[in-house]
Amino acid sequence: MAYVETKPTAGRHFLQIPGPTNVPDRVLRAMDNPTMDHRGPEFGRFGKALLEKARTVFRTASHVVIYPASGTGAWEAALANTLSPGDRVLMCETGWFATLWREMAERLTLRPEFLAGDWRRGADPAQIETRLREDKERAIKAVCVVHNETSTGATSRIDEVRKAIDAAGHPALLLVDTISSLGSIDYRHDEWGVDVTVAGSQKGLMLPPGLSFNAVSAKALKASEDAKLPRSFWDWRAMLAANETGYFPYTPATNLLYGLDAAVDMLAEAGLDNVFARHDRHAEATRRAVRAWGLEIQCEEPRHYSSSLTAVRVPEGHSADALRATILERHNMSLGNGLGPLKDRVFRIGHLGDFGDLQLVGTLGGVEMGLRAAGVPHKPGGVQAAMEYLAGNA
Ligand SMILES: *Cc1c(COP(=O)(O)O)cnc(C)c1O
Repeated sequence: MAYVETKPTAGRHFLQIPGPTNVPDRVLRAMDNPTMDHRGPEFGRFGKALLEKARTVFRTASHVVIYPASGTGAWEAALANTLSPGDRVLMCETGWFATLWREMAERLTLRPEFLAGDWRRGADPAQIETRLREDKERAIKAVCVVHNETSTGATSRIDEVRKAIDAAGHPALLLVDTISSLGSIDYRHDEWGVDVTVAGSQKGLMLPPGLSFNAVSAKALKASEDAKLPRSFWDWRAMLAANETGYFPYTPATNLLYGLDAAVDMLAEAGLDNVFARHDRHAEATRRAVRAWGLEIQCEEPRHYSSSLTAVRVPEGHSADALRATILERHNMSLGNGLGPLKDRVFRIGHLGDFGDLQLVGTLGGVEMGLRAAGVPHKPGGVQAAMEYLAGNA
């Protein structure tokens, strides 16, 4: 039986995890077209135009490589194309996703150095600058930062990280994971001098899972010529050669590319800055609700508050997972779970992607009712606080 036919509850499911996000009908309709010959003439025209317009979302004039893979694949591609076995890389412990990326770097035989963090804020540019200044022999080949740490709801200031690298006069590449920020939070690949931007389809880009991206600077491309890590599927060279004429070296995820075409159009029509402002506004409304409930926001640094999700701590002695289970059971809404050491300690409200005011009010309503049903101590009035903010800031 098809998945949709097995749903027990009336009304639409609220998919409020911080990715995959709700896929807009226009994107679904775009994917609902016959799969075309990916070596035929029509595809070349489509592919060339799409690869060109995908650049706008990254704010880059440089190449964007698209893989039929989840974001994790694009992480590997960023490392494998630019680095060599034994290379030192500086990574920042912002949370669970930064930890997974570091583990991947180790498995790929790189030597990652992890700048310690407390999972309650973004990367610290001063810490990065200090470490790079100490690296007199320039052994560190890349600095890797997760722009929006989806496990904690903290957004690192990539502009400040760039300034820190420049202030240290260090030649390391800057690799940035924007999997849960691209298309949701202000991001500028070219202006911030990022060398490889890693992205995925299923979060701010409003697509189903299955596509991932590397935006590649000229400096990264140059580094890839000498990089010795083995790579085949992820190799930029075969990709970029085929992309010249709008094609791919192996079968692309054709129907997801139709969806990407529609999603990029939607972001352009809305205006990226307006899309970011909408996310900022929904995030602020959410934080007002959390404070009104008397609960604690996982991110402790207001300058690092994430606009794509909010991680909320449950009081000691209470279970975030039991709360999420209650909300799913009673109100047909999925919230994000706590990851790694935050398991059962936080729940995460995704407010990114194709998301409007009334969906936010519904989401917060589901949380407030769930807090009550699950017996989590809180004050009422969170939804009210959010509505007042939304109504006053149209
Ligand atoms: C979701 C996410 C990932 C993992 O992406 P997959 O598509 O699940 O492979 C990595 N980093 C961040 C910041 C994420 O939000």
